[in-house]
Amino acid sequence: MTESKNTAHEGLIYQVAIPTPLRKIFDYLPPKSNKPLQPGSRVLVPFGRRLIVGFIISIKSGSSLASKNLKGIDKILDEHPIFSNKLLKLLQWSAGYYQHSIGEVLNAAIPKKLRSANPTNPMYQVWKSYSPSEKKNSNSLQNAPKQKALLSLIQKQEGLTKESIMKAGFDSRAIKELEKKQLIYKQIKPKPLGNAFKPLSRKNPKSIDLNAQQKKALTAIIQIEAKFKCFLIDGITGSGKTEIYMQAMQQQLCEGRQCLVLVPEIGLTPQTLSLFQERFECSVISMHSGLTDNERLAAWNMAKTGAAGIVIGTRSAIFTPFANLGIIVVDEEHDSSFKQQEGFKYSARDIAIMRAREEKLPIILGSATPSLESLHNIATKKFVHLSLTNRAGKAIEPTKIIIDTNNKRLENGLSEQLLYKIEQHLAAKKQVLIFINRRGFAPTLSCQQCGWIAECKNCISQMTVHIKPTNIRCHHCGALSKLPANCPCCNNSKLESIGLGTQKLEKFLQARFESIPVLRIDRDSTRRKTLFQSMLDEINTGKSCLLLGTQMIAKGHHFPNITLVAIVNADTGLFSPDFRGQEQMAQTITQVAGRAGRASSPGEVVIQSRHASHVTLNNLVNNSYSDFAKYLLQERLATNMPPFSQLAVIKAQAKQLSIALNFLKKISVMSDAINSKFNSQVNSIGPIPAPIEKRAGMFRAQLILKAKKKSTLQQFIHLLVSQIENLKIPSNIRWSVDVDPNELT
Ligand code: ADP
Ligand code: ZN
Ligand code: ZN
Repeated sequence: MTESKNTAHEGLIYQVAIPTPLRKIFDYLPPKSNKPLQPGSRVLVPFGRRLIVGFIISIKSGSSLASKNLKGIDKILDEHPIFSNKLLKLLQWSAGYYQHSIGEVLNAAIPKKLRSANPTNPMYQVWKSYSPSEKKNSNSLQNAPKQKALLSLIQKQEGLTKESIMKAGFDSRAIKELEKKQLIYKQIKPKPLGNAFKPLSRKNPKSIDLNAQQKKALTAIIQIEAKFKCFLIDGITGSGKTEIYMQAMQQQLCEGRQCLVLVPEIGLTPQTLSLFQERFECSVISMHSGLTDNERLAAWNMAKTGAAGIVIGTRSAIFTPFANLGIIVVDEEHDSSFKQQEGFKYSARDIAIMRAREEKLPIILGSATPSLESLHNIATKKFVHLSLTNRAGKAIEPTKIIIDTNNKRLENGLSEQLLYKIEQHLAAKKQVLIFINRRGFAPTLSCQQCGWIAECKNCISQMTVHIKPTNIRCHHCGALSKLPANCPCCNNSKLESIGLGTQKLEKFLQARFESIPVLRIDRDSTRRKTLFQSMLDEINTGKSCLLLGTQMIAKGHHFPNITLVAIVNADTGLFSPDFRGQEQMAQTITQVAGRAGRASSPGEVVIQSRHASHVTLNNLVNNSYSDFAKYLLQERLATNMPPFSQLAVIKAQAKQLSIALNFLKKISVMSDAINSKFNSQVNSIGPIPAPIEKRAGMFRAQLILKAKKKSTLQQFIHLLVSQIENLKIPSNIRWSVDVDPNELT
């Protein structure tokens, strides 16, 4: 071998991020055209045997690889970077913090259309006529006046869309005929991008006069001009948080700056979008999973060019590019949907704070039930606390009581006392909301003779009985099978559905309150959007009805005529094994309770429990959420759990539990070795089987790492992950990292 072949390449190198799970970037030679390229641009590069879309991260001179081992960039896809420097930096930070491949992170941050070699602006079709020199046909159209008129229109206005042709009164037949006669042809063109929206005027006539608390909060927010500051609006349901967001946004919009609003769920709360659309005279767009690929690309462009004044979106909207972003709002900041649980396990709320910091913007987090993390950040003066303690309108706080169901006869989960209350409220022509956190008909199907229980073949979990259509389903993996007629063990035909789900309760309530409409809201009943909308419409008429549902009804809806809210069973949350179990229970109960008495009629909240004297539950019922949160924070401090410590979990999955556990044991040894260099600042717990031990055919295990400081854990986990990446990992093991896990399931 001659020396030149071995030496490292010297000369210009582009470092390219590629959507693969590998946590590294790759060296490429410049493209043949030698056009200079900027970080944040997409390129087509050879990778393995394919050409793949990658992203330029940086430019350097020289590679540790020899020239012959380097491949060249095949094609430049973007003349201008699709990621601004700031956004690219944020995404790099996110990939580093959550220990995920930068290529996958960048890929997830763009609309699907841009993940292949499509141009950034959406394409559209226009019709053109041939110029005299290229004319192929001299058909005079003497006998076709419509076609003749259309041809002359197209000649006058080159590049008409089909839509504008139709608007001018022609039909698609005329277009087809002219095309057939080779008088016109179609051309696909990139859509011209919109202009930045026009700054709004300072005063919005639709703004509501704020009360004193709201005014104080708004003043604090708008004082901060183009600086980073994180505000937490800690305000009970209906206290007018949204009104403050809107008025703070108004200030930005009148400066020509854009606003980003993150919400937990958009499909379920179409009111949110229309509320903003009605308030502001600029274009308000939404970004959520329900968009088609083209719609998403169009929305992305509108944000990037500044044509959209406001973007309202779910989790992934935090990666939207903006021409001129002025403020970020995260509504319901405590909501667990802001944390992605699979793949790139990021928290959109936390990245939003990072984005605001980097881009020097104010950010508002809002919630009636702030997360313990955010409350801790207030205690340590990282966030500014803005509290709203009164309901904005006339509404007053509901009263709360606990009904002891221990040793009581329950009818489909409801105590006599609760049934009586339901009757009273319905008799007063009011609406009643019943919260039960289990969809389906019944959570257990069991044989009365031998005790057999229907279990999922792929998970360690029971099958839930469903009706309409009748079958049994696993809520962990989605497996579905026919409802057995006989017991597969003893062939007995007496199978019993035990326990209570929304469908069983619905059936019972329909029979019991015959004249009253019963509306069930859960993941099954809301799958059809039109059906869901018609239920919301019915509730909004204000007529007496019974509303029952899961978590979904706790999210953001305004139902002014509800005067009774019942929580059928508070005990699952009370005894949850997860460290966030009680926090989430308190948030759900408080949010559901917040649906009561939103207008002028006073509300009542009833909580059923078999542990009516449980300290935690009484604490929650007798105190405000914020007092209860203080109590939970003390507990977290005593047990040294977040936010008083930082967690990361290494997860492994395999077809056998022992394989997953053994793999994590190896990692635990590596972790111990690293820890000795860290003065044992990191605690490792496990490996242990995950609480959901088997899901979709895979056994699951976890190794939990805990440190006092974020920075310690970050450095530690970075070292550990790079060592794991160097292992030869058998293909039958899947592993991942979850930094700041939401739950240890
Ligand atoms: P939150 O976001 O805290 O749940 P909203 O901002 O949606 O509360 O306000 C709840 C209701 O009270 C809305 O109908 C809103 O229009 C109204 N509202 C808000 N602020 C005021 C105010 N200062 N005076 C009167 N009504 C208000
Ligand atoms: Zn049996
Ligand atoms: Zn299953």
